[in-house]
Amino acid sequence: MKKTMLLSLLLLGALSAEATVNVAATTSNLGMLVRTIGGDAVKVTVLAPPDRDPHFLQAKPSMMIALRNADLLVSVGAELEQGWLPSALSGASNPKILVGQPGYFEACAQVPLIDKADAADRSRGDVHPMGNPHVFLDPERMSEIGRALAGRLAQLDPAGGARFKASAEQFATKAGERVAQWKKTAAGAPGVVLYHKDANYLLALLGAPILGYIEPLPGIPPSADHLSRLVGQLKGRRGAILFTDYQSAQGPDFLASQARLAEGPAGAGGPAEGRRFGLLRHDRRLGQGRRLGPVMADPLLSYREVVAGYTGPVVGPVSFDLHPGDVLALVGPNGCGKSTLIGALTGASRILSGEVVRGDGLSIAYQRQRPVRDTDVPLRADELLHLTRADAEPPESLRPLLGLRVDRLSGGQFQLLNVWACLGGEARLVVLDEPTNNMDPSAVRALADLLHASRSDRAVLVVTHDARFLDGVSARILEVGR
Ligand SMILES: [Zn+2]
Repeated sequence: MKKTMLLSLLLLGALSAEATVNVAATTSNLGMLVRTIGGDAVKVTVLAPPDRDPHFLQAKPSMMIALRNADLLVSVGAELEQGWLPSALSGASNPKILVGQPGYFEACAQVPLIDKADAADRSRGDVHPMGNPHVFLDPERMSEIGRALAGRLAQLDPAGGARFKASAEQFATKAGERVAQWKKTAAGAPGVVLYHKDANYLLALLGAPILGYIEPLPGIPPSADHLSRLVGQLKGRRGAILFTDYQSAQGPDFLASQARLAEGPAGAGGPAEGRRFGLLRHDRRLGQGRRLGPVMADPLLSYREVVAGYTGPVVGPVSFDLHPGDVLALVGPNGCGKSTLIGALTGASRILSGEVVRGDGLSIAYQRQRPVRDTDVPLRADELLHLTRADAEPPESLRPLLGLRVDRLSGGQFQLLNVWACLGGEARLVVLDEPTNNMDPSAVRALADLLHASRSDRAVLVVTHDARFLDGVSARILEVGR
């Protein structure tokens, strides 16, 4: 009897192992979609590292191995992977996943593409000769692609068909809800300069104007001529430059500094000016793989049309979502209501309309604007971190402070220590209120490093009157009081 049971368990194990579909996805955002639709029935290998430009890769032996073992290849298509996928495929010699086979699935073939008419020749260096391939940055197209993918997975694993279909519908519903929210957040956005023609689908969906491109043609690095033309065109405009970690910061830096110079000094008695040509790296979860990942996960914190104040309204309505890994900066001049907005979360101010939704069991670490130093009990810095349960390994820039007495630190050092007291702990949400107060330039750089090193399973909300220190951090900027 026992033996029979064991045998049937073994058989079950063998059967479920057989049902797994091995999928090779070229990019991590497609990998995310396959996992979302396929669930336990798929095993996904992503070929392109998320921090590398998928246009420009080399075929590697590890890719060939993944392709040799794949039952299904999910690619972006429209020649995005033209430089490396064909040679990786020929090295893999797996006839099941060649073009035209059931084992070959191309995202771009499932949806209409934009930019088809103005594509230049690949011989002129344009890496988008078939139209814009960046459909993976479009939640609506990704929903369509998800439905098609569910159908394809069902061909390979008929038993899972109904489940794949349901998952695709669920993805589409969630994506639709998030897009509606994002549209509200993006309403009235002054405009975006893109490094590459990659976020076009998303920006069109959100109605955010595109003011120009750092690249003269997709895949062609910017020339000095092209950049000065851009500076001329953008003089006096407001907006943000979006680029990723794998794109050179040189062009965006030049444009941002020149556009700023062209406008003269900011804030000279005029109305509160917001961010003019600030730099905004796509946060990495946006730039690559995880861009659509958050669509599926519930946010840690949501502000929905929040109007906050005391006896009367001070600020709002403001809406945003914070997902794990996000760094969001609430930026605005002093007195615009940023701290009142945070007060809606901590209870220091009142929510007059709208709502603040916290994720289940959300833990919050809050660094207040002027941390108080207790001079009666002179602790050492490491003792203070221990007491506040900031047990993570402190970064290099903090180590010299650890043995020092807290009452002997400079104002900036004490501020930095307090920031780490929040970031080094277990809280899922860290709120920093004007963290650069009292800091000299080296402390501000150290602060940017601390933020950059923040854990990916938590979100950071920064309130600041000057977001420039966030330029090197993958942060989103939300202007308050405009
Ligand atoms: Zn591209």
